[in-house]
Amino acid sequence: MSGGTFLGMPAFPRNAAAAVQDSQLRFNLRKATHTIRGKRASVVAELPDWAELRAAGKEIKDHTLRNLDRYLLQLEEAVTAAGGHVHWAADAAEANRIVADLVKATGETSVVKVKSMATQEIGLNEALQEEGITAYETDLAELIVQLGDDWPSHILVPAIHRNRSEIREIFQEKMASYGRAAPEGLTDEPRALAEAARLHLRERFLSTKVAVSGANFMIAETGTLVVLESEGNGRMCLTLPETLISVVGIEKLLPSWRDLEVFLQLLPRSSTGERMNPYTSTWTGAVEGQEFHLVLLDNGRTRVLADEVGRQALRCIRCSACLNVCPVYERAGGHAYGSVYPGPIGAILTPQLRGMGSALDASLPYASTLCGACFDACPVAIDIPEVLVHLRGKARHPRAERLGMRAAGWVFDRPARLAGAQRLGARLRRFVPGRLPGPLAGWTDTRDIPDIPAESFRDWWDRTDGGAR
Ligand code: SF4
Repeated sequence: MSGGTFLGMPAFPRNAAAAVQDSQLRFNLRKATHTIRGKRASVVAELPDWAELRAAGKEIKDHTLRNLDRYLLQLEEAVTAAGGHVHWAADAAEANRIVADLVKATGETSVVKVKSMATQEIGLNEALQEEGITAYETDLAELIVQLGDDWPSHILVPAIHRNRSEIREIFQEKMASYGRAAPEGLTDEPRALAEAARLHLRERFLSTKVAVSGANFMIAETGTLVVLESEGNGRMCLTLPETLISVVGIEKLLPSWRDLEVFLQLLPRSSTGERMNPYTSTWTGAVEGQEFHLVLLDNGRTRVLADEVGRQALRCIRCSACLNVCPVYERAGGHAYGSVYPGPIGAILTPQLRGMGSALDASLPYASTLCGACFDACPVAIDIPEVLVHLRGKARHPRAERLGMRAAGWVFDRPARLAGAQRLGARLRRFVPGRLPGPLAGWTDTRDIPDIPAESFRDWWDRTDGGAR
């Protein structure tokens, strides 16, 4: 019941080349992303001050990130004063160890989970499994992914790659192994599938004493955590169990309640295309009879913060609007990115959090056409193309490419050198092959080499005085 791991996956081009052969996957992705995209566009268009909201969201996040140390300490103080316990985790291993120790201290061997990207990022379910603790996902899509021993492929709709008949099969085959079985004669009607999940999960909520969540936002001023969701499973996890453990990335801070107002408008419209999300749960510290632990997760975030261009990725509120408009994501799907963060945000966040040491992580900044649709859709104005280009500059390049780029830089550095190169090119144009040789051949596999003109524009201009002669 691990949900699989992305470890050891090959580079993005290989994953994507395999994914685009799957016509069912492409159909599912296109249908789902275009539906959400259309809903988002219409609810965003309703707000005349969307541009101002977007600018405010960006400013609040930038201000918070600039003062992150101060606000984190303020948050810790407020959570502690409200009866909660705060733990600091430098990396995934430390966060997993903290959570496992907390669960073991309760004497329980299972936890229910609210959908959380941070816990997926650190591989919490697998780490708990090794300690003999079973983590049960309660978000419908996460349940489908977990029962199917699958990987999430979208931030908001992790089972976006599955259609309803596949989901029915998964429920029929797997539900009984993890609790209440799927009803006899289950159909693939959405209502029937939702009811099967509801009955299955209800038993789990009522019998499990420890819950693990993430949070969309944390308010430094009061120590309040906020979760936005659509199914009510979050509300059940956050209120029923005796112990609640929340694992949250340190960048999820907002200074005050007033700031939350901006994000409660930006997030639902950008993610599900709704004016308001159905459930907004907030909690501050622990209530009587319950224990609350907050695990503040770094796991590479302070390193990202140190990068002047790349740090804007930490503004992300995980709405997934950038995925739904991305032509690459629409065709390649989420698994090709080899991370819990797929699509454009994954292409800039994963290589920064994990580093670019593996072939997969080094390939992610190239998983884009740089069309800029993600930047336009992003509610906190993350200039994803700018970060992609920045990361491409940091990636390791083959020697031939580096030499070629250095030579091109030398030529373009002086107008006289460029003019000389153009004249030389014009003289040698007869000898330019149709395909480039050796390691450069890949470039011409799918492109024609443009014809070199007999005379450059500059020379023509000088010779004809701008066309006057
Ligand atoms: S990068 Fe922007 S559009 Fe993409 S998930 Fe994050 S906030 Fe949403």
